[in-house]
Amino acid sequence: MLIAEINPIKEKLNTLPNVSSKIGVAEDQGMQQLLSEIQLLRAEVNDLKERNLDLVKSCQTVKTSESNTDRCKDSNHIPTYANKVSSQPSKVIIRPKKPDQSLSQTKSDVVKNVNLVDENIIINTVKPVSSGGILVECSNQSCGDKLKQLASASLSNTYEVKLVRTFRPSVRIVGMSKDVTKESLPNYLLKQNPGIFSSSSWCRVLRYWSTFKDKSVFQADIEIDTCVYEKLIESGHVIVGVSGCKIFDMVSVPRCYKCNGFFHNAKQCKGVISCPLCAGAHPVNKCSIKEDETIERRCNNCLSLKNSLESISDFRNVDINHAAWEYAKCESYKLAVAKFKSSYFKSSKN
Ligand SMILES: [Zn+2]
Ligand SMILES: [Zn+2]
Ligand SMILES: [Zn+2]
Repeated sequence: MLIAEINPIKEKLNTLPNVSSKIGVAEDQGMQQLLSEIQLLRAEVNDLKERNLDLVKSCQTVKTSESNTDRCKDSNHIPTYANKVSSQPSKVIIRPKKPDQSLSQTKSDVVKNVNLVDENIIINTVKPVSSGGILVECSNQSCGDKLKQLASASLSNTYEVKLVRTFRPSVRIVGMSKDVTKESLPNYLLKQNPGIFSSSSWCRVLRYWSTFKDKSVFQADIEIDTCVYEKLIESGHVIVGVSGCKIFDMVSVPRCYKCNGFFHNAKQCKGVISCPLCAGAHPVNKCSIKEDETIERRCNNCLSLKNSLESISDFRNVDINHAAWEYAKCESYKLAVAKFKSSYFKSSKN
């Protein structure tokens, strides 16, 4: 629009010398009038040019802020941990309450009752699970939440709908100085330990507090990706600020307080009662070891392990003289953790 205004004025200016030459013979007064007109037109052109420049500048500012807004909308461009979490896949299990229902019936019910297309629920994979159910992996957390919400609303009478909590291994980092905070720790880890963390690594600080021995030394429990976890355990330490910090494995398996078996709790227990101190058939508060310290401790889990190894002629030396909670000595516990890790790592690679 401005160029459209400038051009006619330019044309007018170009014609002016001719006009003036024609009137060159005319009276001085007429000449003066024309010259002042030229001056005015030139000033107008300059004014327009300046206004045009200002507009071009402000257009550029608008463009830049627009592209910034676009970047804000696209969560992948902001490297915050909150965004990384929300862009992780999310899994939902939809399982019929009626026994013996077919998988195809489940799928058809989901498609009929949840408008996946209009609701923009993006699905990565669908896998069959037991009892005619399906495990749906959605592309991100909001898709998973939406699927869970919509499927629950329309199918909860006949289906069990639940979100699957993704297991993430954790480690404890010990040895930070007091200047490092819960909020700044992920940044230190990421930037100072490039061999372990990459820019796409996921890390969440669960807890940050000072050590019991020395209040000026801090420790943190963090949740990380499987590949970062493996590198951390292998390395055994990280750099945070100017401190070399030790890494401790925090992956654990639950132990039942009733039978001392692993991977379940007392509420779910179908086993028989077993004392964690002596492996006898009584609760720990009735244990005679407490009065008679000459009685040796006995781990029921390691006793079973020893028996099972002997039955296959594997006479490995399994220590049984410890309480079921003394994990540092307990071979059974170490095996349970190893089993848990291998099952998790296998499934996470699928
Ligand atoms: Zn149990
Ligand atoms: Zn006992
Ligand atoms: Zn044991």
